Amino acid sequence: MGRGFCKIKTLKYVSTRGQAPTLPFDEVLLTGLARDGGLYLPEIWPRFSNADLKHLSRLPYTELAIQIMTPFIGNVISHDDFSSMVEDTYRNFQHPSVAPLKLLDHNQWILELFHGPTLAFKDYPLQLVGRLFAHVLKKKGQKATIVGATSGDTGSAAIEACRDKNLIEVFMLHPAGRVSDVQRRQMTTVQSANIHNIALEGTFDDCQDMVKSLFSDKVFRRKHHLSTVNSINWARILAQAVYYFWSALALGAPYRKVIFSVPTGNFGNVFAGYAARRMGLQIEKFIVASNANDILTRFFETGQMSVTEVIPTLSPSMDIQISSNFERLLYEYYKQDGKAVAKVMEQFRRKGLVSFGKGRWKAISRLFEGQRVEDNAIKDAIFKVYQETGEILDPHTAVGVVASQKALTNKNNLVISLATAHPAKFPDAIQEATGIRPALPPHLNDLFQRKESYLTLPNDFESVREFIATTLENGSKA
Ligand SMILES: *Cc1c(COP(=O)(O)O)cnc(C)c1O
Repeated sequence: MGRGFCKIKTLKYVSTRGQAPTLPFDEVLLTGLARDGGLYLPEIWPRFSNADLKHLSRLPYTELAIQIMTPFIGNVISHDDFSSMVEDTYRNFQHPSVAPLKLLDHNQWILELFHGPTLAFKDYPLQLVGRLFAHVLKKKGQKATIVGATSGDTGSAAIEACRDKNLIEVFMLHPAGRVSDVQRRQMTTVQSANIHNIALEGTFDDCQDMVKSLFSDKVFRRKHHLSTVNSINWARILAQAVYYFWSALALGAPYRKVIFSVPTGNFGNVFAGYAARRMGLQIEKFIVASNANDILTRFFETGQMSVTEVIPTLSPSMDIQISSNFERLLYEYYKQDGKAVAKVMEQFRRKGLVSFGKGRWKAISRLFEGQRVEDNAIKDAIFKVYQETGEILDPHTAVGVVASQKALTNKNNLVISLATAHPAKFPDAIQEATGIRPALPPHLNDLFQRKESYLTLPNDFESVREFIATTLENGSKA
């Protein structure tokens, strides 16, 4: 490899709530949520100069990914090991350029992030995170139990990333009968000894509460080395920052500034873009696109963050009320004051309502614009784009594209909308909008013939904990 950028020997990570120990990259990877309830962020941000960016703009995706992420890893993983994990990861993606850009309309681009094994952008970070976990666990002589809740896409991406890795056991909870058939089958047809699917008799919120309860059982947590791979995990955010560089550089950065429109749930993907900007990438603005679950849009409109009920929509992966990664942004706008962040987050948890001060709200609003897009507008947009261009947008991508058209930005600016899922993941919505039922890509076309395995459990803490404990004990004897 050529030159190294931003040499920093031992980058450490700090918690957004300021009370947990600072940790190196490998510990942050395995820990997920910090012990004080906060999320990890780098203590300082490595930065790429314009000269660096000019050089980076000539690299293929994989090499770019290595260069962008290396300064964040420090010396805890060797450069050769890390490079081969990144190469392995993106070699298996279905498109030669990994993340292709398509022109949709004048100055309007989409960045396709659905060429990984499970057809959503979550493969881009998780395929790497699975490899990083296996590598770090082996080096430390440890095992990990990944417990997660999913409304669809996270589960399949995590399962596909961890299958056949013998130091990791995965227990994935989905709400019984409430995920699409494609989404369920993408999880339950993976026949691997370390993958355990649980259909919980409850809602997605019940699944999430169950996971939280398992983590709060300190003895259980320690005994089984519980861990998570949802977007509170820093390694995921880091891997996602890469495609912001990739697309902006392809369209003219550092000489041209771009705007990103990002369909948003947990704010993880938007925050990855913010991270790229902190590392020196020229990004003019972020459009934070929400469906009817518009807590962020309402925050940008009023300066207040307030929780309401979750409304089911055509873009289920964004049916979220509490965007956990927003805390990372707050930490930045509170100038790294962890105590202050802990205080407002505590208030938010207690009252379901909080504001962060007018000055901060104005400052955040200079870089981020919230836009809400309802289901009718999504269907219209999918139909219209299909008629005009032949492209079929998935419902999540459509939220971002409509938001970018509604946004109050100068139309001479370049806008990149992130295409976060393949339309075939949501065939019913697409059929309703266009009359066409999109086909699954070849590697999944026998999905409905594959054998499923999962266990249905009641929404009862003891039953779930018992099942996990027994499975782990039987496994370690074998
Ligand atoms: C997870 C997901 C989102 C939301 O991403 P966040 O990082 O949670 O904001 C959007 N679209 C699709 C298809 C997803 O799977």
